[in-house]
Amino acid sequence: MTAILGAGISGLSAAYYALQNAKMVPITIYEATNRVGGWIHSIKLPDGTIFEQGPRTIRPSGEGGKNTLELMEQLQLSDKVVPILSRNPASKCRLIYTDDQLHLLPNSIKGIIRKNTLLDRSLLSVVWNDLRAPKVVKDDESIYNFVERRLGKDVAEKLISSIVVGVCAGDSHKLSAKSFMPSLFEAEQEYGSIVKGTIARAFKNRKNNAKLKEKTESMKKNNSQINEKSHNMKMSLIERARKEMWSIWTIKDGIDQLPISLAKNITDHGVSIKTEHRCEQLKFSKDTVELTVNGEVKQYSNIISSLPAKNLASLVQAQHPELANELRSIPTVTVGVVNLQFPKNALPMTAFGVLIPPREERPILGVIFDSCVVPQKSDATVLTVMMGGEWFEKYFGQCSSDEHLLTVAVNQVQEILHIEEDPTVFNVSILKDCIPQHIVGHMQRLTRIRNYISTHKIPLGLCGSSYQGVGLNDVILSAKQAVSDINSHIL
Ligand SMILES: Cc1cc2nc3c(=O)[nH]c(=O)nc-3n(C[C@H](O)[C@H](O)[C@H](O)COP(=O)(O)OP(=O)(O)OC[C@H]3O[C@@H](n4cnc5c(N)ncnc54)[C@H](O)[C@@H]3O)c2cc1C
Repeated sequence: MTAILGAGISGLSAAYYALQNAKMVPITIYEATNRVGGWIHSIKLPDGTIFEQGPRTIRPSGEGGKNTLELMEQLQLSDKVVPILSRNPASKCRLIYTDDQLHLLPNSIKGIIRKNTLLDRSLLSVVWNDLRAPKVVKDDESIYNFVERRLGKDVAEKLISSIVVGVCAGDSHKLSAKSFMPSLFEAEQEYGSIVKGTIARAFKNRKNNAKLKEKTESMKKNNSQINEKSHNMKMSLIERARKEMWSIWTIKDGIDQLPISLAKNITDHGVSIKTEHRCEQLKFSKDTVELTVNGEVKQYSNIISSLPAKNLASLVQAQHPELANELRSIPTVTVGVVNLQFPKNALPMTAFGVLIPPREERPILGVIFDSCVVPQKSDATVLTVMMGGEWFEKYFGQCSSDEHLLTVAVNQVQEILHIEEDPTVFNVSILKDCIPQHIVGHMQRLTRIRNYISTHKIPLGLCGSSYQGVGLNDVILSAKQAVSDINSHIL
């Protein structure tokens, strides 16, 4: 018997993967609010426009990217996938606003060689910086320090700090390089430089891919029947993403189609989802777990928690204060999200959006040009303004009303993007504690948490954005991993 805490995308995915092991059923999900999906929330306007409050695009690459595409296929949602190709201007044009102007990030070989306006030097000189910088042995350090040491202060301050703001609304001075950019961080530790490490790995991967290709070719030759069959089969989403060179993808009718379909699939297979059920306490004994929900004690054999780490901390505080302490040390930030619709094309150019580095000291983190990324039914402009994050208190602590956020968002957008019109439709939401921050030492903390759970033989699997990564791909993959951790505990 398994209880899953939280019905965001990771809790629902955990139930989906847990269904594959008979020893984990029956499964019940407990969710504090009255809906599934957690931070995924798509608001549909009468004209067909979708305002996404939370996530809106997903990357197809990497293990997590492939896993999510497989999940889309398994849920028969392939037809709803909307790819955004690498050659699409919305993929190619990414802007940074600093020193009172918009800068286009280099997106071609020419752009790498030429001096760019953002750094006032070419990316080749950034590569040269890295090749000359001495290796420093470190367990972890802040993203800012790592990038400043290897690539230069301008890259850390203008480029990387903006990207960090775009991914996790956080401060590159506090966040962990080892967690945020593991392959670049390890490249220095292993090869002495980011560039050398990246080239060495690319060669290694090429060799492995060549071996894999050889193996596949010989398998194909040996089985002409299967070969013929596979020829007739529809191309998988993973293959399509590779062949068609997808940069990112989204979902027709809104990202919430994924949690909605997932919830339907798992309930059809016997999972019970109990909304408006707040988990309050966990007590582990030798053969059973007591879970207190809405004041009632229920017994389970296994628990998978998809709650933010600090919510889980209060559930285990009484019995495991040391574990609670570690969980509570994973901080979160609050983001204000303002969706805006303007009646006609109001943007100066087609792009994915603009990011604003913290050095600008502006109350907004960036603007996503939704109507450039996903084709709209009308020629209206749809934008999403992200605000606050690590600096929410600083800019809105005393005055965080919806009206104030809207006024600030509209003023900033009009000033930065030179838009003269006022929006005709808008939505404001303040997402409290929505993005966990993987600060310096995060990986070491995760190891201590995992060691504590296994040493004390606690049947508890952890998933969600507090642990391995904050993107949708990361949290879905973390759900698969949590189920496998529990399975190895059962065996
Ligand atoms: C503004 C924003 C934009 C984003 N954009 C992107 C993007 O474009 N692409 C991308 O890949 N990722 C993006 N992300 C990240 C992604 O949305 C999250 O990582 C993901 O949705 C987290 O899902 P989760 O299930 O782990 O957590 P959550 O969505 O937080 O789900 C946890 C659930 O647990 C419930 N809960 C909490 N406490 C209790 C309790 N005591 N008892 C019972 N239930 C409880 C909550 O109500 C919630 O439903 C974005 C996030 C935000 C906030």
